[in-house]
Amino acid sequence: MKYYDKLIFELSREGRTGYSLPKASASAAIPAELSRESALPLPEVSEVDVVRHYTNLSQMNFGVDTGFYPLGSCTMKYNPKINEEIANMAAFGGLHPLDDQLPGVDMVYDEMDKALAAITGMKHFTFKPCAGAHGELTGLMIMKQYHQNRGDLARTKVIVPDSAHGTNPASAAVCGFDIVEVKSNAAGLVDVEDLKPLLGPEIAGIMMTNPNTLGLFEKDIKEIAALVHECGGLLYYDGANMNPLLGMVRPGDMGFDIMHLNLHKTFSTPHGGGGPGSGPVGVCERLAHLLPADIQNRVPAIPGEEKVGSVSGFHGNFGIILRAYTYILMLGRENVKMAGKLATLGANYIKESLKDAYKLPIPTVCKHEFVFDGLIDDGSATGKPGATTLDVAKRLLDFGFHAPTIYFPLLFHQALMIEPTETESKETLDEFIDVMHKIAAEAAQDPDILHSAPHSAPISRPDETTAARKPVLKYQDETE
Ligand SMILES: *Cc1c(COP(=O)(O)O)cnc(C)c1O
Repeated sequence: MKYYDKLIFELSREGRTGYSLPKASASAAIPAELSRESALPLPEVSEVDVVRHYTNLSQMNFGVDTGFYPLGSCTMKYNPKINEEIANMAAFGGLHPLDDQLPGVDMVYDEMDKALAAITGMKHFTFKPCAGAHGELTGLMIMKQYHQNRGDLARTKVIVPDSAHGTNPASAAVCGFDIVEVKSNAAGLVDVEDLKPLLGPEIAGIMMTNPNTLGLFEKDIKEIAALVHECGGLLYYDGANMNPLLGMVRPGDMGFDIMHLNLHKTFSTPHGGGGPGSGPVGVCERLAHLLPADIQNRVPAIPGEEKVGSVSGFHGNFGIILRAYTYILMLGRENVKMAGKLATLGANYIKESLKDAYKLPIPTVCKHEFVFDGLIDDGSATGKPGATTLDVAKRLLDFGFHAPTIYFPLLFHQALMIEPTETESKETLDEFIDVMHKIAAEAAQDPDILHSAPHSAPISRPDETTAARKPVLKYQDETE
C-alpha cells in the first residue's frame, strides 16, 4: 500500500480546511430550526489532500483513454476529443431545456434525423430514449401501438433469438409481451426451420441483432423478414453495435421496421457506469406517425391513430446527440464506410492470429466481434486445475489490457468475446495478440500463474457475487 492509498477519511485532521469563504456568510439568513445541530461528519482535509486523493483514485480506473478495451458487445472505441469540445460549448451547454424553439437546436435534431435515416434506411428517428434498452422499450411500445391501432389485440408474443443481448427479452417483458425463444443453428445464426413453427397470429414481432451477438451476419435475413411480415409481425433491429455495417448495408433495406442505435457506442460517446446515453429509435415510413410526440414534432399523428406517449423529458440527452453529430460530420460520408471496414478487419485479424491458442467454435469470417470458447491447452495436463476464461481475463489486467467480455453470450461455457473496434492501430492489436499468446503459454506450463492473477491491480479477486449483491460503496465509520 502506498502512503497516498489511504481513504480520505483517514487523512482527516481536525480543523484542517481546503477552502476559505468570505466573512459575510449566508448562514444568518437560514432559520435556526432548519440548521444542523452538529456539523456534517465530512473529512477535514487541505486542497492538496483532495487533489491527490481524487487524482490517484482516477488512476485506479481503466478507460479507453488509458488503454485498449476490447469489450465485446460494448464498442469501447476511442472518442475523439473534438466531440467533447463541441458538446461543452457554452452556446449548447448553457441552454435551458425550455428553449425548445432555438433554431440551432432544431437544426441539430433535423440533421441528425436525416443522417441516421441515410445510414440506416429508416424514415424518421425520435431522440428521446436515453439508453439502448430505453430505445428497445420505446420501439416495442411502437410495435404494440401499431397492432392496437389495427385492433389486432391477440399479438402478445415477441420472438427473441437465444444469442440476443439480455436487454432484448427484458425490454419485451417490461413492455408486457411474452417472450418466445428461437434457437441458433450450428453456424451461430437464427435457425429458420426453428423459427417457422413459432410464427402465427399471436406474434407481435421479432427482435434481432445483425451482425448478431456472435459477430456474425445473419445470412437468411431476407427470408426471415418475409416470413415474419407474412404472419403479420414486425421486425425490430437492435442496432446498439452497428459499427461494422456503417456505410455498408442498411437495416431498412433488410426489411426491418423499427430499430434503435446506441449513440454511446457506435457513434463514439464515452459510456459505462450507467450513462448518460442516447438510444434514438428509427422507424420505417408506415410507422413514422407513431413515434413519440417529440418537442420537434417532425411527424404529426394521423387522426384516429394513437401515438406512443412521451418517453423522457424535453430533448433526450442532447449532449450525447451533439457528440454523435460531431462524430458523423467529422467522418463524412466516405469515412463512415471506413469505420465499418476497419472494425471488421481488426476483429478478423485478432481471431485468425489467436485461433492456434484459443478455441474458435465458429471458424467463419466475423464482423466487428467474435467469440472464443476458452483455451485450447488450459494446463490441466500439469495436474493442477485448468485455467478458465476468468483466469485469462484476470491475467490480461497485469499486462495493462482491459479484459474482453466473458461468459457472454451464454451459448458457450468459456465464452471470451473480443471487439477491438476500428480506432486501434495494428501495433496495439499486435501487442494484444502477443500478450494473449504469452498468457496461453503460461496456462499450459503453470495455470497457477493465472489462478492468482491479477498480481498488479489494486484489488485482485473480490467475491463477485457479494460484490454485486452487497456492494460497499461508501466509507463505513466504525465508531458510528
Ligand atoms: C449495449 C447493448 C444494449 C443496451 O444498451 P444500453 O445503453 O446499455 O441500455 C442492447 N443491445 C446490445 C446488442 C448492446 O450491445
